[in-house]
Amino acid sequence: VPALVVRDLTKVYSNGFQALKGISLSVEQGDFFALLGPNGAGKSTTLGILAGLVQKTSGSAEVMGFDVNQQAFSARRYLGVVPQEFNFNQFEKVYDIVITQAGYFGLTAEQAAPNAEKLLKALDLWDKRDQQSRMLSGGMKRRLMIARALVHEPKVLILDEPTAGVDIELRRSMWEFMQTLNRQGMTIILTTHYLEEAEQLCRNIAIIDKGEIIQATSIRKLLSQL
Ligand code: ADP
Ligand code: ADP
Repeated sequence: VPALVVRDLTKVYSNGFQALKGISLSVEQGDFFALLGPNGAGKSTTLGILAGLVQKTSGSAEVMGFDVNQQAFSARRYLGVVPQEFNFNQFEKVYDIVITQAGYFGLTAEQAAPNAEKLLKALDLWDKRDQQSRMLSGGMKRRLMIARALVHEPKVLILDEPTAGVDIELRRSMWEFMQTLNRQGMTIILTTHYLEEAEQLCRNIAIIDKGEIIQATSIRKLLSQL
């Protein structure tokens, strides 16, 4: 099965605004995929529906063959989600944030401990493990979002504008980290409004504007057209 499938997806927000006008896309397992488009295009809405954070209006969305609404628990178990905004409990400690997340997937603190340690070390947060999240810098919070998303060992990682507002050094190290994950077999889908980011990282791309997919192709083909 594909890692992600979206069919004829629409979203009308409660104020009547139609953010998605019937989009379809499919992301194969192992892909590194970018959803590229300007601000307001509908990128976050699309990822939000896949993550189970936004209620769709019509159409369908699946993760690893599981419908995000009808089989929500299975769909979510396969998915790691890195939202755009920090949404930590400010007073919870770094280590506990990661362990708490694992708990949502039925893992005990003991079961999650080895992976939590591995991730916090890989993301250079191990020294901060006993600090409350409010004490972290912006860059550390970004990295903590990623550690938290990966603790239950998902097969698919979705990131909403992961490097927005990040300095160049952290951007490069995040790019490297995502590339390593992808080489190890993880499917990655990110949103971005920088073609350069998509070009550096991704194999396939969908361009979205005003709630519609205007092109879906490989990066190589896209660049050969420019
Ligand atoms: P839904 O239609 O899915 O129920 P809501 O309209 O209730 O969604 O809005 C969900 C959240 O998004 C609210 O907290 C709201 O303040 C926020 N929101 C409202 N308008 C916008 C907007 N234009 N862009 C981003 N967020 C918005
Ligand atoms: P992107 O991620 O591409 O910037 P979004 O998916 O966040 O786009 O938003 C798509 C459109 O939907 C925007 O015009 C945004 O203002 C609007 N929107 C987002 N959330 C809400 C909401 N909760 N209520 C009303 N409109 C919203």
